[in-house]
Order: sequence, then C-alpha cells, then structure tokens
Amino acid sequence: MLEIKKCGSVIVFRMGRHFGKRVLYFVHSFLVGDTLIDTGTIYVADELLSVLVDKPISTIINTHHHEDHTGNNRLLQMHFNAKIYASAEALPFMLKPHQAKQRLYLRVLWNYPEPSSGYPLDNTLDTGKHTFDIIHTPGHSPDHICLYEPNEKMLFTGDMFCGEHVKYLRQDEDFNQILSSLHKLESLDVHTIFCGVAGAVPNGGQALKKKISFMEGLSSQVWILYREGVSPTHIRRRLLGREGLMYWLSNGHFSKQNLVNSILGLP
Ligand SMILES: [Zn+2]
Repeated sequence: MLEIKKCGSVIVFRMGRHFGKRVLYFVHSFLVGDTLIDTGTIYVADELLSVLVDKPISTIINTHHHEDHTGNNRLLQMHFNAKIYASAEALPFMLKPHQAKQRLYLRVLWNYPEPSSGYPLDNTLDTGKHTFDIIHTPGHSPDHICLYEPNEKMLFTGDMFCGEHVKYLRQDEDFNQILSSLHKLESLDVHTIFCGVAGAVPNGGQALKKKISFMEGLSSQVWILYREGVSPTHIRRRLLGREGLMYWLSNGHFSKQNLVNSILGLP
C-alpha cells in the first residue's frame, strides 16, 4: 500500500504491507527536491518506482539502517544512479543486511532489504537545492541521524520522534539515550517534523517539547515507584497498563515493559 501527500515543498510517501484489508504498521519516506529521505519497505517496490519514475532522484539519505528505511535503496540506486548517504555506522549493515538475523515480525512487516552501498555523512550535506545539518541521534539505533533544513525549518527525524506519548520501546532501544538525542533537537527552530512513523507533524518544535516533557515525567514517576520498592512489572501495570497487540506480534521485542526497564537501566 502506498499513499502520496504533499506537505509544503515535500512529497510524503506513506506505505505498509497489506494483511487482508488491514495495514498493521506504516512507514514514511520523503522527497525534498531531488533528494529522497529513506526508501521504505521492499514490499512496495513496484508501486514506489512507478510513482517516482517522473521525479528523478539524485540523492538518497537514510536516517538509519533498519529494513523499513532502506528497503528500496538498491532498486532506486540502480534505476536513478542516485548517490546514497547514511551515517558511517549504518553503512556496513546496509551492505550486508542478512548478516544480522531479522526477527520474524520484522520480516513479516518489512522483509530484508537488498544490499546497498553508500557514503558516510559529515556534519552537513549540500544536495545543490538544500543544505541539511546532520545531527547524530542514537537511542533508537546507534547509527541514527536526524536532518535539519534551516531555510524551511524542516526536521526529518527517522524513528526518533514517533509521537508525543509513545508507551512502547524495542528491546534494543535505550530510553535515556533517546531523551539525550531529543534534547539535541530541542533548540532547533522547527516548523514541521517529518517522522518515519507519524508522517508530517505540524508545530514540530512544540511537539518535540511535549514529547520530552512526557518522557521526563514518566521517567520520574518510574523512579519514584522503584525507590518505594515497587517491582518493574507492577510499575508497568500501574503507569502504562497491559501490554498491547505489538507485544504479542513481536514476541515481547516491542513492549511497555521494555520502556520501564530501560528507564531503570535493567536488561
Ligand atoms: Zn528504525
């Protein structure tokens, strides 16, 4: 499934895999001038290529190496002869995506990307039409970067934002590192956030502040209960409630308990 929307000068691609009539999870890619930020899942390869065919792409930038952000790198690189950029830490994973075994739910949702090669990002990237500031934002993954375009006050956040009140965490994410990374973005003058999960988010600066405040509030509540002797499982039940659908689908890789444990620095 692929939907296209325009937001200012940016074309927003919303995509996901159909399960019957339902799409369980969406991911977004963004076209800014002739630069594509993230390439989505390989499951929509044909649809994506057919809508991009009259929009020549010279540059691809990946926010991180995950399969739902690099899925069509190789296809688009071959078709448009586009140059790919990502953080130096992301490039080895992109070159050998099968090296790390993919969890079953990620394979079902996104599948493995084909291998692709790229160039390491520096502190800025000038694509000719836009200059992006590159901000290293680990936490969701160690190789994660965000891109800020100061003229139009656009912030491309990959999987760093995801929403103001996110109550889940992946097992391999680090809550406190995510919070530190968000603080790096807080001082930017942001008009719109372009998020891998939520798409275009207006009043981006305000949304970032609300997210930081939610995370800091949750962290302090978790610590208060923990110091009172409440177990991590009971803290999760009290503050976040029961686990939801993603917990069951991901076999616990994506859960509320991970969020509480990560705040406390527990495995
Ligand atoms: Zn990701």
